[in-house]
Amino acid sequence: MPPREESIRVPVEAHWAGVIPTRPSQQQTLEKRSSQERAGRLTIRPLHPSPESRRSDINRGLKPASRDRRCNTGSEIRKAKRQGPLPPDKRIETSHTRKANACVRCHMQRSRCLPNPDDPFGCCLTCSQLSRRMITKIPCLRYKISDSQLLDKGTHPRFSWTRRWTSMKIVEIDAWKSDELKIITLTQDVGGAEYSLQVREFLPLEGDALARTWNSRDGTRSHPCAPYAIADMRAMGNILVKFVDSNIGTFISHYINKNDHLMYQTYEMAHRGTNKSQTMQERSLLKAVLRLWVASRMESKQERICSKEVLGMTPQTWDPEAGNFGKYLVPPVMQAQIEILTTSLVLLPMKQAVLKDLQHLVEKSQVRSWFTIYLCTFILLHSCALLTHAEAVRAAREGLLGSNSRYHNHQLVEEFHNGARTMLAYFHYCNKGSHPFTIDWANQTNLTFAHLDAEQAKFMQKTKAEIEQRGDHFRYIKRNKIFEDDYYFVSQLYELNWTPTHTV
Ligand SMILES: [Zn+2]
Ligand SMILES: [Zn+2]
Repeated sequence: MPPREESIRVPVEAHWAGVIPTRPSQQQTLEKRSSQERAGRLTIRPLHPSPESRRSDINRGLKPASRDRRCNTGSEIRKAKRQGPLPPDKRIETSHTRKANACVRCHMQRSRCLPNPDDPFGCCLTCSQLSRRMITKIPCLRYKISDSQLLDKGTHPRFSWTRRWTSMKIVEIDAWKSDELKIITLTQDVGGAEYSLQVREFLPLEGDALARTWNSRDGTRSHPCAPYAIADMRAMGNILVKFVDSNIGTFISHYINKNDHLMYQTYEMAHRGTNKSQTMQERSLLKAVLRLWVASRMESKQERICSKEVLGMTPQTWDPEAGNFGKYLVPPVMQAQIEILTTSLVLLPMKQAVLKDLQHLVEKSQVRSWFTIYLCTFILLHSCALLTHAEAVRAAREGLLGSNSRYHNHQLVEEFHNGARTMLAYFHYCNKGSHPFTIDWANQTNLTFAHLDAEQAKFMQKTKAEIEQRGDHFRYIKRNKIFEDDYYFVSQLYELNWTPTHTV
């Protein structure tokens, strides 16, 4: 049993404020407790924590934070302005740490990350000096949120569709065969969501595919398509952006299982947060995360033509084993245009916005932003599992043609997982040694300090209950390295004393 810690009572504010240097006697208690938790390997809270352990979680921490600048109790740390240039030896240090990335702790504390001269890429001097005095046991990690990979994105549409575009930049087609504009409607059969586009018959160039092809048990197959393309890509881009925006709820309902309460309620809460989060910055971050998520889902599924206008084509009715059976297929050049628009107008700008705004919010380190940071990180980590799953499906599909690898693109999966680790490291750093998923959110004092309203408090209580029920599953997927499971990365948000683990 962990040592009782009633003697270490603190206001909840200090509990949230986190990285607090300890007094020697308390330091011993914390280190003892922490090593016991580590030895127990059960890094996720016991299913039924005792009242004592719950209380000690709330009261965990120490006397009210001193004015140490590390103890940014709910307020922003402002960058101290330097007067004049750095001395030469400091300049060398800075350029070195820039190359090796400053570690999460030094980055968050705006302190110089001093590499150990004997092990320049190992634990930095700041972390090694502080580690024995800190509550937060996160190791020295040289991660940067802005380096996180959130997308499976090539640099151009597939050359098997067309060779017209060698980047994801919008370049209009200028050689048309006909002046006549036709309107078709596309759908992915996601909750009835569909959009219409103006298309026109083009003059095919060398490299334009005029049939859709796919792999089957017996080799490559193809179905002919009409040479039609989007007449005005920029105009269509505006429609697509609005489509993504107005279908966030539809996509959540379609892709997220309503019976999985933890997953569904978190997406719902994030969606609601796009209108009701406390600051504009938080609202726009949640919007960007969800737009990115919707566009990523769009990329994972094929469109079909669902209008009466089918451009004179026939449906694919001869390969019942293929996913496109019975459908009117989108011509390859048009598909390439859709990919360019989705990538250049939604995926890339949203990825950039998410990483920049998340980094910014995390760096501000304000208690009141914690809730938004949690929702965003949850969705991004779930997305990582979905992308990993997609890579596994692709590998299995191509396994028909003789591949044995678990993932289609192993390196890409590694990048996704590095990104997930980075976000987990910053999230746990934001917790600063506290355990928000073990706190009693029915207690008004906790709510006031964390700036949660009644709805958010209810959400946190339900989340806490869900996590307690899922402890066994979470441990199982972690132990068995089931990276494709919806919760492989998400469950690590709830670990006590989280440390990064090697994945693929
Ligand atoms: Zn450092
Ligand atoms: Zn460090």
